[in-house]
Amino acid sequence: MESSVPRPASLPLIAIDGPSGVGKSTTARRVAQALGWDYLDTGAMYRAATLALLRSGVDLADRAGLERVLETLQLSQEGPRIFLAGEDVSEAIRSAEVTRRVTPVSADARVREVLVEQQRLIGHRRRWVVDGRDIGTVVFPAACCKIFLTASPEARARRRHLELAAKGDPPPLDVVLADLQRRDAADTTRAVAPLRKAADAVELDSSGLSLEQVVDWIVAKHLGHG
Ligand code: C5P
Repeated sequence: MESSVPRPASLPLIAIDGPSGVGKSTTARRVAQALGWDYLDTGAMYRAATLALLRSGVDLADRAGLERVLETLQLSQEGPRIFLAGEDVSEAIRSAEVTRRVTPVSADARVREVLVEQQRLIGHRRRWVVDGRDIGTVVFPAACCKIFLTASPEARARRRHLELAAKGDPPPLDVVLADLQRRDAADTTRAVAPLRKAADAVELDSSGLSLEQVVDWIVAKHLGHG
């Protein structure tokens, strides 16, 4: 998908793409803090759109219903909190049902068109760190710094399992791993904006690295010392 927004040669924006459970959101938020920039979580936007569809009872096959939901979709972000028409849905968008349903919703070309347009309007206003799947390839191909963050499926599953354990009763590790692999397969093989590394992105395998090491590496890269 080509941008209709005129692009400066190099946009002051750090794009962090990568698979599910690699720690993009936490990393991107910390990089933004370190630089004094703003942070945009595009995965949260797809999740909030999914929640809006679930609440309205509209199925993706109902194209007129989908248009109605997209027309009235009012998303905003304040710090780490995500709002849907003014309601804080930060917890609701992390539910198991939204996590399951977000895969087909985010593969829908019309949903992506609407959300990508919103992301571009936000991102062109000031300095942003943006995380997602297609930020360096589709949404902001002119970003000045593009990172493709990876980690082995096992390392990602172990981290996600620890996060879920901290919240309560986690599913078994092999269930967490299978879910990540299902999302990887869907994100990399979908027809519209599949997850892939931009040609000019630098790849960082974070499997054996701490969050601090990853954040320091990206900040140094951005500042030209990496
Ligand atoms: O990053 P997070 O896991 O919260 O994203 C939720 C879902 O939204 C992902 O599974 C992915 O399919 C989708 N997504 C996307 N493009 C983005 C960000 C997220 O397709 N830029």
